[in-house]
Amino acid sequence: MYRDNAVVLRQHKLGEADRIVTLLTRRHGLVRAVAKGVRRTRSKFGARLEPFAHIDVQLHPGRSLDIVTQVQTLDAFAADIVDDYPRYTTACAILETAERLAGEERAPVPRLHALTVGALRALCDRTRPPDLLLDAYLLRAMTYAGWAPAIGRCARCDRPGPHTAFHVAAGGAVCVHCRPPGAATPAPGVLALMDALNHGRWDGTETAEPAVRSQASGLIAAHLQWHLERRLRTLPLVERSLDHPAAEPAGAVGQHAEAVRQDEDRDSTTRPASIA
Ligand SMILES: [Zn+2]
Repeated sequence: MYRDNAVVLRQHKLGEADRIVTLLTRRHGLVRAVAKGVRRTRSKFGARLEPFAHIDVQLHPGRSLDIVTQVQTLDAFAADIVDDYPRYTTACAILETAERLAGEERAPVPRLHALTVGALRALCDRTRPPDLLLDAYLLRAMTYAGWAPAIGRCARCDRPGPHTAFHVAAGGAVCVHCRPPGAATPAPGVLALMDALNHGRWDGTETAEPAVRSQASGLIAAHLQWHLERRLRTLPLVERSLDHPAAEPAGAVGQHAEAVRQDEDRDSTTRPASIA
């Protein structure tokens, strides 16, 4: 028997009455566990094991999956999230990113756990716009995963910036000497905004130009996508109210990643019009 602090990432049905829950725990990393009987109406912990919940949980090691034996709610984040579509989609993207970046089951990821709890709490507090919270979360989560994009220094030669080009495959910001063909040229202020979000310097982030916020989101999403083997399922649902490019395929990340590609096309006329 062991006890841990966890965020419920998702759950699915198992048989008639049970559920399998995927937890991001503080000390045991990702844990998949069975919650028995929770789909019966009188279940005492069914409601406490909904996605987004921050819980104190007791688990009994099982043969293949552990078994949830006790649950206490620490923060019922879902109540403040599910009725607000931008916050809901942002929270879904946070949970999905957390699961993808946590790595193998039972590999401890205490910083990712703390970051995820903090991001959900900030989302519920409604003191910052969801798009900025998500971008800050993604940057820091990628840092913990070892995928941090270079921002202040050249990704290739480490020359200190500020730099004016960004290339996902090169690893982020690149100096004039290292920039590969097809590097994006973000608007002035974009890399500075990313640096501020990455380091939690929130002053001024909300007054950044919409185009600057949108481009920063695009570069962050493109960088994340580059590093994930397959696209996040929920990220394309995230509504980014700042940017509605016409005639783009559905999906904010798709739009932003496409914008980055178009930037690259402008820089390199030999590239085909659509790489998607
Ligand atoms: Zn360089």
